[in-house]
This record gives sequence, C-alpha cells and structure tokens, in this order.
Amino acid sequence: MRQIKLCLLLIIGTIVSLNAQQPKKLNSSEIYEAVQKLNVLGSVLYIAAHPDDENTRLISYMSNHVKARTAYLSLTRGDGGQNLIGPEIRELLGVIRTQELLAARRIDGGEQRFTRANDFGYSKHPDETLKIWNKDEVLSDVVWAIREFKPDVIINRFDHRRGGQTHGHHTSSALLSMEAFDLANDASKYTSQLDFTETWQPKRLFYNTSWWRYGSREAFDKIDKSNMLKFDIGVYYPTKGLSNNEVASLASSQHLCQGFGRLTSRGTQDEYIEFLKGEPLDGSDNVFAGIDTSWNRVEGGSAIGNILDDLEGNFNFVNPATHLPQLLEAYKLIQNIKDEHWRTIKTKEIKSIIESCAGLYLEVSSNTPNASPNSTVSLRIEALNRSNAQIDLVSYNLSTLKVGTSKTMEMPENQRLNFEEGITIPIDINYTTPYWLNTQSTLGMYHVDNQELIGLPETPRAVFVDFNLIIAGTPITITKPVVYRYSKPDKGELYRPFEIIPEVSASLEDKVYIFENNQQKEIEVLVKAGRDAIEGYVRMAYPNDWSVYPQKQKIEIANKGDIQKVVFTVVPPKGQSEGLITPIVNINDEYYTNELIEIDYAHIPFQTVLMPSVSKVVRLDIKKKGENIGYIEGAGDVVPESLRQIGYNVTIIKPEQIAPENLANFDAIVVGIRAYNILDAMKFKQKFLLDYVKVGGNLIVQYNTSRRLKTDNLAPYTLKLSRDRVTDENALVRILDPNHPVLNFPNKITIKDFDGWVQERGLYFPDEWSEEFTPLLAMNDKGESSKEGSLLVAQYGKGNYIYTGLSFFREFPAGVSGAYKLFVNLLSAGKESQSTQKTNN
Ligand SMILES: [Zn+2]
Repeated sequence: MRQIKLCLLLIIGTIVSLNAQQPKKLNSSEIYEAVQKLNVLGSVLYIAAHPDDENTRLISYMSNHVKARTAYLSLTRGDGGQNLIGPEIRELLGVIRTQELLAARRIDGGEQRFTRANDFGYSKHPDETLKIWNKDEVLSDVVWAIREFKPDVIINRFDHRRGGQTHGHHTSSALLSMEAFDLANDASKYTSQLDFTETWQPKRLFYNTSWWRYGSREAFDKIDKSNMLKFDIGVYYPTKGLSNNEVASLASSQHLCQGFGRLTSRGTQDEYIEFLKGEPLDGSDNVFAGIDTSWNRVEGGSAIGNILDDLEGNFNFVNPATHLPQLLEAYKLIQNIKDEHWRTIKTKEIKSIIESCAGLYLEVSSNTPNASPNSTVSLRIEALNRSNAQIDLVSYNLSTLKVGTSKTMEMPENQRLNFEEGITIPIDINYTTPYWLNTQSTLGMYHVDNQELIGLPETPRAVFVDFNLIIAGTPITITKPVVYRYSKPDKGELYRPFEIIPEVSASLEDKVYIFENNQQKEIEVLVKAGRDAIEGYVRMAYPNDWSVYPQKQKIEIANKGDIQKVVFTVVPPKGQSEGLITPIVNINDEYYTNELIEIDYAHIPFQTVLMPSVSKVVRLDIKKKGENIGYIEGAGDVVPESLRQIGYNVTIIKPEQIAPENLANFDAIVVGIRAYNILDAMKFKQKFLLDYVKVGGNLIVQYNTSRRLKTDNLAPYTLKLSRDRVTDENALVRILDPNHPVLNFPNKITIKDFDGWVQERGLYFPDEWSEEFTPLLAMNDKGESSKEGSLLVAQYGKGNYIYTGLSFFREFPAGVSGAYKLFVNLLSAGKESQSTQKTNN
C-alpha cells in the first residue's frame, strides 16, 4: 500500500502544468525557485470549507515567499453551489471545482487536500452542519490530513467563535481544525490511521483575520494586535515578473464555474493572522518561531543544506545542468536520511529539479485517449537528454503491465530515443473515475473505504511508466503517467490524461420524466461503445407498478466511441406514483449500469466520470387549468422545461417583447428567478406586467435577492424582500389559510405535498407586505421565528399577483410531485369561475 502511495506522490508532482494539460517542464528561474524550496523544511496547512474560501494571497505568500510546503485543506469539493460555465451540478460540479482548486494550486504553488464531507448547500449554523456531516468522520479526516501532511503551522480561514454569523460549513471548518489540532498527536485517537502514518503535533494554530471581521477598517485599526502577525503579501518576485498578489489573483481566477475571473492587483497589502493556540510566539514575528526550517531539522541534513546553500548562492541561470553533480550528491544524501516523511517529499522535489536541469524529456503517449480493460493500446515512448550529462536509459517498466526494455541504452545529448510498445490493458484494472463517487454518498458524506485514498484530490492514475536511468553514475527512476497527445488545427498541441473506461455505457436523456396523465412516453437510451465490435442487449429496470416494452433491445456497435440509440416505451400506472428507471446493458456475461460523463473545459484537464445511469419517473395526479404560459427567463433555471413536461405550452418572453399586445393571451406569466436582479429592462417593463394583472392576468414572480433590484416597483403593493430563508428542506410547513382558492383549486394542497422536497424550502422571503397580500404558508428553520413570506397572493384589479420564494427551481428537476401540484395551482389562480374544469384522467 505504502508503495502505491509513493508512486502517486511522484506522479502528482510531474503533472504541474501551465495550461492544465501540457506536462510542465521547468525553465531556469523555476528550477532556481525549486532549489530554494528544496532548501526549506517548514510547512503550512490552510483550512476552510469550500473551493474559493481559500485566501490565495496567503497561500502564495507562504509557498513562494516563505518557501514553505503549503497546502489547502478544503473540507468539501463545493458540490452544492451553482455552475456559471455549464450544465454540471452536484457531484459533477464537485469534480469541476476539485480541478479548479488543482489549477489554482498549480499557479500559487500549494498542494490540495479534501475530506469526505459533502457540500449539501447553505447551512445557517455549525450545529446543523455537524449533524448533517458525520462530525466524527470529518474530524477524523482533518486529523488524517494533519498526520499525513505534518504541518508546523495551521491557519484557519474562518473564526471558530462566530457560529451562526456565517455559513455553518465555514465555522465548522474552524471548529474541527481547533479540535484536530489537539487530537492529531494522540495515539489513542483514530488508531486505524496509524497503520499508514504517525501522530503529529503542529506547533501553532492561527486564524486568518481581516478588517471585515471587525466591521470596518477603522474598527480594525483600533484593536490590540499584539496577538497577531502581519505580512506584506504584495512582495514582488523578480523570477516570476509578478507580485505575490498578482499570482494570487491568477490562482483564484481559476474558480471560473463560480464566476471568479478577476483583475490582478499589486503593491503593498497587509495580511493578518491571529494566534489561537500552540506554542506562544513570545514576541517573534516568525510563524515558525522555535522550529528549525533548515536542513539541520533532520538528522544527516546539514551536509544537504550546505550543498543547496552553495547552489543557491552561485546558481547558473544560463546552464543549470552544470549543477547536476551537486544535485546528485544531495540526492544520494537525501536517500540516506532516516526521516521518512522528509525523505519522500524532498526526493520527489529533487528528482524534478534533476530532470529539469538535464533538460530531460520523458513521455509516454497512447494512440487513443481511453481504453477498456482487456483491449490493446499502442504506446509511443520518447526519451531525450538535452544536456551534456552522461545519462543511460537502463530500462523502462510499464506499471502494472509488466512490459519494458531491459537493454541499457546511452542517451547522447539531444539524440531522441523512441520506442513503440503494444500493451493489453489488464482485465482487473480500475476505471478512471473520481474515487469518492464510486459508492453511493449521503446528503452529508462521501463514502470512501480505502484510508489511503481519503483526502487525495484525484484518483491515482493506473497506467504509468518508470524510466530507470543512470545520471552521471547515479541510478534514478523517474515516473510518468501515460498521456494522450494530439493536435487540433485551430488549437495546436493538446494533452489529455489517458483513461480506463468500461466497454459499454448507457445514458438516459433526462434525469426526471414527468407523466402528467396516464399516457405512455417514448424514452431514449444512448448506448456508447468503449471498444470496437460491441454486441449485446439492453433492458430497462423500472418500478413494479409501471410497465416498459419491449423487454430488451439488441445492441450492435462496430466502432469504439460510436453511440446506438434505442427507444423504450414507458407506461405509467393509473394513480400518483414515482420510482427509478435504469438501463442495463448486457455484453456476454457482464452487466453495465453506468453512464460515462465527459467534462471538457479549457482551464482544467479533461475529466471522465462514471455515474449510475438512473432517472426518476413521476406519475402526477393533478388537475390543470389554463394552457398557455409566458415565461420571462431570469438567472437560468429549468422551470420552463419542467412546465412543458407536464403539458403546458410555454413561450419564452424576451425582455424587449414585454408589451401589452404580447401578454394578453397568456393564462399566466411566470418570472424566472432573479429576473429583477439581472434584467435592466424590468425597470421599464414592469408597468406592462402589472397592467396585464390589472385586466385579469395571473403573474407569478419567483425569488429575487433583496439587494440590487432593477425596479422599486416589484409588486402592485408594498412588498419588502429580506434575507429570510428556510434551508431545512424538511422544515414543517403550516398552512395559514386552508380555504384560500390557491390551496384548493384545481388541486387540494395539504402538508403532504411538502414531503420529499430537496435542498431547501426557499429563500429571500419578503418580511413586510401590505394588507392586500394574503400569506398562505408559514415555516422556519429550527430555533428561528416563523417566516410567513414564502407564498403571498394579492388580488390586483381583476387579476392575481403572486410572489413566491419557494425553491420550485430546485424541486422540479428533482421530480418533487407536491411542488408541481402547488405550482399548477398558482398557474390556475383566478380561473375557478371559468366553465368546466379540465382534468387529465
Ligand atoms: Zn465558502
């Protein structure tokens, strides 16, 4: 096990790259910086809760200025947020954000770690957070991170004393860090971890404070700072041509799915950390006070330090290869130090320096981006020495594949060695997919059995090559993962990680299929071949009271990568019902139930994710009134699509089309989430919408945030938005006006219709409204006052104005039947008196 891990470390170290794809080769300045870092034995662990919480200014400062080994421990992968660059949400968003953190670390020089905690969405208090997370498991993972990384100093992003005043995940990260600081060195705690690592006591713990913690710069100026350290994080790095704060902005701009692309800044800037616990600083301004961060720290280290001091002082930027003899001497000394922790870290660092000094180009590229187990792949191996050092290639071995040359070959300066190898991928190899998604997760936790995987940002690459070299008499093995290198006429040379995929995968078009009546639906299954010549069958698993035909469909796909489409007819039962459907592909004796999801963005490496191919089918038992719905789109939600699924004609109304003649014919008009925050036109168009209501229309406005509204005229009567929200999706709902038509027509709404909601009840509820409004529902999170603004209805002229902060935009994609039923009633408001009621049965 330990062996595998060592290889991992080596591989991760070589994937540092500029554009996320191309393996990085260090230039002279970077080699010099790497030598400086090799000469420092101090480490800092920064702890917070989410991707983007981390202060890249401080991480970059610690990594690039202090030269400490620096890591960011993000408790979660940020699955709970929104995605501004594409359709991926939940687990897939977590995969993107994991990669964005790695992209940020490639720029600021830090490392990245995680826990198994799942970002389940907003939480008001750490008590709630730590109940939904398995507190003991997350604490165990923080202890594990400390024992593995062995930081001298821990810095919390958040204040553990501020529970309830920020996101509960934030305060929890600080609370868990405080606890773990005391537990990591206790051998009686989390003992199973000690099969893989040792206990560790960090020296001290800080909180990365700031003026905003105190409300204003003036207030912060006045406080006693004797317990704080201050850094100028605006230092300039001539070797980079960048200021530290510029590096930090470039790093945090990698969080593109959160819209963090930003301008850089430079110049002096103060950053503060407040001492919380551990060994007092006693007036020192050095975070490492009392710790020797030179090579003298380890037994047998001083000779290494002497070599590196000399190398730093006399560095040859024109030809760093002249330093190879000194570096090889240091390499041999490092192999002899007893301290396994530093030996592993520093061996990885110095190997990369030696490789770069020798201008070594070692690469293994496959002829295909992916392959399935038991298939054959051809590999192109390139080895090139671009220095005058005496280097021999003794052999190369392909990781698990037991192929390789054993004839020693000289590597004369700038003479390329090329080899071709045909390999068969082992039948029992693991697929390339995020390891934390291999097992069903819960709302609060990912499930990972293998202790050594816990905390790793990525699944270790399964296929790699060891190059066994002798460099000027010293044997050194350099490991490279297999890559896929290709070019595009409009992009140039590109790289992708080489991936192991199943021989077949299947996906359904939608995640939720809504059946508004008992009419059957045709559902398409897309079967994708992971190898040539696929033959087999696909069947559908479905709930008992539903039926699907035909029983099975034949699959015949000639070429890898091709897709065959098959159609199944799904028949719902008579009454309300819901369940899951899954396509099952049968090839020979194997059964496949996963879909293969590809994530392709320029700022992160290409990602392949295997997820269970499951969709929800929902048979609603609802009555509807009205057919034609106009929809004004807000900040992007799937409500129009969901309404179409239940049989409405939905017309998207563009802001410039909001005019009386275009509105008159709609049975209802729905305004999308945050439309009044983002559409400038609403300022001038609102009067047309209110006029539409006045003459008998039905306007339904979904949530907007209280700040930056484009109009003061959100409603025909006084309506003040607040930040009130109910984050507990199971919070009890009380019906305030059970006889109100909106709760009775065309469907009777009861509290049962609030069962099975997801993520939250709603947000930004109004907290003040004039008497024309009738509040219909009350709800609240635990320990809070009752909130009555989630659904407000007012008669205006002959029509109805409805404002709702209920999270229909989250409930519809999850197929929550009660949410559909209630929304249909909102759309039907005011139609009670009209002729016969249309039903769907
Ligand atoms: Zn956060």
